[in-house]
Amino acid sequence: MSEATRARSGEGADGRRRELARPPAPEPLPLPVVDNHTHLDIEDGDDLADVEELLARAAAAGVPRAVQIGCDLPAARWTVQAVDEHPQLLGGVALHPNEVPALAEAGELDAAVAEIAELARHPRVRVVGETGLDHFRTPPEQWHLQEDSFRRHIRLAKELGLALQIHDRDAHDDVLRVLAEEGAPERTVFHCFSGDAAMARVCGDAGYYLSFAGNITFKNAGELREALRAAPRDRLLVETDAPYLTPAPHRGRPNASYLVPVTVRAMAEVTGTDLERMCHLLQCATEEVYGTW
Ligand SMILES: [Zn+2]
Repeated sequence: MSEATRARSGEGADGRRRELARPPAPEPLPLPVVDNHTHLDIEDGDDLADVEELLARAAAAGVPRAVQIGCDLPAARWTVQAVDEHPQLLGGVALHPNEVPALAEAGELDAAVAEIAELARHPRVRVVGETGLDHFRTPPEQWHLQEDSFRRHIRLAKELGLALQIHDRDAHDDVLRVLAEEGAPERTVFHCFSGDAAMARVCGDAGYYLSFAGNITFKNAGELREALRAAPRDRLLVETDAPYLTPAPHRGRPNASYLVPVTVRAMAEVTGTDLERMCHLLQCATEEVYGTW
């Protein structure tokens, strides 16, 4: 696979200065944990680290495996190649909710969903995601397009027996409504969980998994930490969403799977759980959702 096919991170493209040096490696975890959601197809950092190098750094930090998420057509194609080349990876493919309106309005959504459905049949693609609703970036008049696409992705996950990873931004009630109306896949994950404690309880009661990212460490994330405390311990997952959402104190710098220990330590601390126990819980939930590889 040509590294040239990786896209550059657009983060910081708003003109704000951004530190491109990678944060130092944290102390490794005592037990292995999987990064449940990363975008290795998006290059970031000033060191031009390739995929194998990033995976080696992650393994050295106690993160030997990751779920690579490709959420537009080029990224989904890249993901299928990447899981063939890197045994540390499983794949997820979908059309991101913010990709959907333009595709729909260009009359290209049917063909794009069909290609995702093809790519999702690869044996090492075990996730349909990230799909869902984004009421933050998309204006209300286009929400119905996202909802239609979300429903198609839910059906695809159920048809293929795959896990579903959900992107939910400012759309909690509608995401829960659509899941209830369609019937959620057996293994449904809220990627980068962003609800409050009440929502965490609703998700836990429904049997959904809650994947927490580096933003759990942010100073202003008190409500998110409350949600983590309220979530059932056996439904927790951890992710980077790299190269985004770098945990404090490295916020804004490039994220990668080797920084998962920072977030896992924060999760252990917030929930008053022994670190080894937290690693064990995360690993058990990961295997329930994705199996082993
Ligand atoms: Zn993501």
